[in-house]
Amino acid sequence: MTPHGTDLLGTVGSDADLGSGSGLVVLANRLPLTRGARDWEPACGGLATALVPTLRALDGVWVGAESRPEGLTRAAGELGLRVAPVPLPPTIEAGYYDGFSNRTLWPLLHGGVERPVLSSDWWRDYRAANERLATGAMQAAEREGGSAYWVHDYHLLRAPAIIRRRAPRARVGFFLHVPFPEPAQLAALPWAREILTGMLGADLVAFQTAGHRDRFLDAVALVLGPDAWVSGDGVVLRDGRLVRVEAHPISIDADGLVRHARSPEAARELRALARRYEGRTVLLGVDRLDYTKGIPERLLALEELLERRPDLRGRVVLVQVGVPTRTGVPEYRRLAARVRALAERLTARASAEGLPSPVELVEGPVPPARLHALLALADVALVTPLADGMNLVAKEYAVVQAAAGGTGALVLSRAAGASEELRDAVPCDPTSTAGIARAIESALALEPDERRARLARMAAIVHARTPATWAGKQLATLVEPALRSAPGARRPGRAAA
Ligand code: UDP
Repeated sequence: MTPHGTDLLGTVGSDADLGSGSGLVVLANRLPLTRGARDWEPACGGLATALVPTLRALDGVWVGAESRPEGLTRAAGELGLRVAPVPLPPTIEAGYYDGFSNRTLWPLLHGGVERPVLSSDWWRDYRAANERLATGAMQAAEREGGSAYWVHDYHLLRAPAIIRRRAPRARVGFFLHVPFPEPAQLAALPWAREILTGMLGADLVAFQTAGHRDRFLDAVALVLGPDAWVSGDGVVLRDGRLVRVEAHPISIDADGLVRHARSPEAARELRALARRYEGRTVLLGVDRLDYTKGIPERLLALEELLERRPDLRGRVVLVQVGVPTRTGVPEYRRLAARVRALAERLTARASAEGLPSPVELVEGPVPPARLHALLALADVALVTPLADGMNLVAKEYAVVQAAAGGTGALVLSRAAGASEELRDAVPCDPTSTAGIARAIESALALEPDERRARLARMAAIVHARTPATWAGKQLATLVEPALRSAPGARRPGRAAA
């Protein structure tokens, strides 16, 4: 047990309770390692960052889809991780992942910013993949002698019910990393009931924000009707089982980020960037090239701003990092082409006036030191997604700016989960180009002292919530009873009811 473990479960027990392994099984679509050029490498991204320390601290096992796992278990062991890859047959993989997960659920859960594509074949494959992955998790639990599961994200909405059906006494947590849509949007899906009952197989269903949680509760009432009784903070099912429904905003390792942002390498990058953009106000966007991120609207807002404010022409540059993602999906290829075309239009307009381009597209991922330098340099961060579960870039910007003594301002979409916590950002409606342009103007008009004060408050909020506390709050009721699995062990959910 590492010191981290004490921190993680400080509220529920001592190291002595935990023994050598907690029996925790994490189930997610992806494993925390990806295939690199030569060997397996640690995966980056919010899920791995938030969960890996937890998994190590609790000596748990991470189960995920991987059909070519040669060398994976060894590589994971070298990183102090235990993984159990589950192969998915190619006949179901595409329908499950590219199809139902990414072309049906992803747009649907993000509020229909693109039209969800419906296919009963994809749904069949999604169900089959959920069965296989849940089975893999249960086999891992059997090997470990564990019975606590923590299931992650929209790829696995059926998995909690599958586990519950086969192991009624298991402790199951579920966390949705993406938003939850308006109830009527979910209800329009032919498989809405199976999706909700799938999630309700868990003892705890958790969301990024109170808003997403409330929409889920409303959707349960709308779709399941008399089969589920919605109370203030949970759902009671016909068999009397209580499912707690909570909001647990995901967090970042802010202290670790500050250490990286202060590295000599980041300082070198910062000097180079400062020279490059000298005399210009730097606006920054950092996103995967995903249609949920509102990048075209951001570029149109910049165009509108420059039309209205000729004094800003030649003096402002938007550095937009775009990380290609899901490039096989037509909606994503269309988005990338639109972003390029809008950037070219802005460049052409400026060059007709003999001015430098007001936008630079940077193909990501960029090396961490450069990313940290960009966060430290930017006068304004534009985080304007049309819908986003959380948005970690918003949190990272506040933390890096505050640590660097910067005077940056954050323009933040009301549709990003982070806006529930970061109340000192300049809010915007991400669908309104005029609204985004006005928000940029307001951000630029803030006095430096005001910006510093806002950054300090936002950074304090982010520092106060670590990945360990985020995980600990959810696992407290899942892992602890599993560890003390003596007959008659207290079940906190029922006690609360
Ligand atoms: N990121 C990165 N390299 C890049 C661009 C982004 O490491 O070139 C990171 C970024 O720092 C953040 C994450 O990717 O931690 C993106 O998370 P976010 O919640 O903002 O969006 P998501 O991609 O998960 O929808």
